[in-house]
Amino acid sequence: METIQVKGSKYNSVIYVGERLENLAKLIPGKGVFIITDSNIDRIYGNRLPPLPKFVVNPGEQSKTLLRLTEIYRWLLDSGADRNSFIVGIGGGVVCDITGFVASTYMRGVRFGFVATSLLAQVDASIGGKNGVNLDGYKNIVGTFNQPQFVICDTSLLKTLPETELSNGFAEMVKHALIADAPQFNILESNTNRLNTCDLELLDSLVASSVGVKASIVTADERESGERKKLNFGHTWGHAVEKVTGIPHGQAVSIGMAFASQLSAEKGLLTPDECHRITSLLIALNLPVSIKANTNNIFEALQRDKKRCSNAIDFILLEGIGKAVIKSLSLVEIKEFIERKYCY
Ligand code: ADP
Ligand code: ZN
Repeated sequence: METIQVKGSKYNSVIYVGERLENLAKLIPGKGVFIITDSNIDRIYGNRLPPLPKFVVNPGEQSKTLLRLTEIYRWLLDSGADRNSFIVGIGGGVVCDITGFVASTYMRGVRFGFVATSLLAQVDASIGGKNGVNLDGYKNIVGTFNQPQFVICDTSLLKTLPETELSNGFAEMVKHALIADAPQFNILESNTNRLNTCDLELLDSLVASSVGVKASIVTADERESGERKKLNFGHTWGHAVEKVTGIPHGQAVSIGMAFASQLSAEKGLLTPDECHRITSLLIALNLPVSIKANTNNIFEALQRDKKRCSNAIDFILLEGIGKAVIKSLSLVEIKEFIERKYCY
């Protein structure tokens, strides 16, 4: 097992990679503990959870609404939860977001922790203290910054994760390697078969190094004023693709990373060979690098998303594998790149 720290402004978080669900009891108080999970996790792992009061949400983004949260607040109140209570979220990114938000706001904030069960949650969503819910189609528009006391990343739970969900997690792992950890990229590149078959020993060490990248960036810049922006690599174009096509987040980020890599290559920051290695790795991990969609619509979504920042966008590019740089690019420049190079 590996232990990684995130130092937040209010609280610190300890992430246990390779710890097992069964040891959750060691990390929570003896009384006043409440569990939030989703129905998939409850069906598969319900009998392995500690016998504590439990709220089960429906799986998926549609549970991340203020209306659903009202039901959870009411359940906590009816069950006698008070300011000394402790809430544990057991699930993927959706459950972590809901739990973090509910715990940060119920009675002005109670302590909380996560058991991250999806790869995406283990390497990304559970780490960093961003908790948010959706409103009117805007993702994570209502939320808080607040660190969980602990995160258990039990990689053995990934055995039951659907294959497409595993690939979604790989996208964020590739991102972490690309922005800050070249050796990690090499390991991913030479082990795609073992990753696709969910080799637990390899996953334990790779999840730990991936969490390490995110933890150090978040510790340096919890509120995304500079360094943390690098975690948006692949997400500028990716979010626009996600909005227009509705494909899963990890797949959209993969397409966004391929886009940003090609843009980096065009600017002479990345060699064509490095760019090719990146797209080959994504493909080997069953991730898309392009999509049949109208690029004008995607560009429009990109503009809408960023309209607050006048005519330029902070784009994250790569200066070689393992080093991200933040560049302000004009919308005109991006549009020209799309027209010149990027016809799906
Ligand atoms: P994310 O990809 O952000 O983690 P979700 O929380 O929606 O998003 O999780 C993705 C899907 O995977 C959900 O349907 C969830 O119930 C399911 N899931 C999460 N962890 C596991 C697991 N260990 N085994 C099986 N299904 C899981
Ligand atoms: Zn992401």
